[in-house]
Amino acid sequence: MTTRTYSIEFFPPKTPEGMEKLRTARAQLADAMKPAFFSVTFGAGGSTRDRTLETVLEIQRHGNEAAPHLSCIGATRDDIRIILQTYKQHGIRRIVALRGDLPSGMAEPGELRYASELVEFIRKETGDVFHIEVAAYPEIHPQAKSAQDDLKNFARKMKAGANSAITQYFFNADSYFRFLDEAHALGVGEPIVPGIMPIGNFSQLARFSDACGADIPRWIRKRMEGYGDDSASIRAFGLDVVTAMCERLLEGGAPGLHFYTLNQSGLMLEIWKRLGL
Ligand code: FAD
Repeated sequence: MTTRTYSIEFFPPKTPEGMEKLRTARAQLADAMKPAFFSVTFGAGGSTRDRTLETVLEIQRHGNEAAPHLSCIGATRDDIRIILQTYKQHGIRRIVALRGDLPSGMAEPGELRYASELVEFIRKETGDVFHIEVAAYPEIHPQAKSAQDDLKNFARKMKAGANSAITQYFFNADSYFRFLDEAHALGVGEPIVPGIMPIGNFSQLARFSDACGADIPRWIRKRMEGYGDDSASIRAFGLDVVTAMCERLLEGGAPGLHFYTLNQSGLMLEIWKRLGL
């Protein structure tokens, strides 16, 4: 059994107070979990790009590996070349390569159409400097023509030179295991790490899930809706559901877990404690 990879995702804070909170969360999570890396999201269209770098450097300063996300939508090859050079100069060695989504009001799709083209471009420009992670969708990317098409596109992206993948979050472990089997059948042998979303705020989760195509099973949705404003019950039930799913994923052979923390440490620390890893 190879070593499992546990990782944590942050978004770049918008304010100095947000950055201060993130520092505390990073320190607590690094101490408790010793994650392989912290990844930092990236917004297409310029506004958050510098903040991604700033956040990554902040994480690196404390001796943790940091992996910036990089999306190609709305960007030229030159834009991406410059970002890659900057990351390389700063000693960054892992990138999460994505197509991204066009922000509303932005019409120019950019020069690279799909994440597979971005992965190819990164390899062509920088050889083996970076470990490249890509995104996977056990419950199907919302814009995919069909589930079969999406899977083939995923396999193409891996063959373009990705080293491993992180999934969109899900609450149905079977969708992940099925996806693994199908990806293996298409020749994908690299690790596909499940992305895990701790449940803190249910209305926020429902909004995210509608947008990204993650299914909240009826038995979870109905209970959560029934709790109304009772945040303690939402938290307790969410912790049970997510911890049980993590256990099942690891027992079933998942090569690690990637946690979408939304820059909070509390729920994450509790899940980690319960998993006893
Ligand atoms: P792709 O792999 O390019 O796929 C996009 C769609 O195109 C899919 O429907 C696919 O089936 C289809 N497709 C792919 N190749 C082809 C082809 N050759 N021909 C026809 N169709 C094709 N978004 C951000 O903006 N910033 C982030 O930091 C960020 N981080 C993320 C991290 C993870 C782990 C995940 C799972 C998602 C993240 N996202 C992020 C969201 C992501 O950008 C969106 O889901 C986006 O819509 C798709 O990106 P992708 O890299 O999966 O695209």
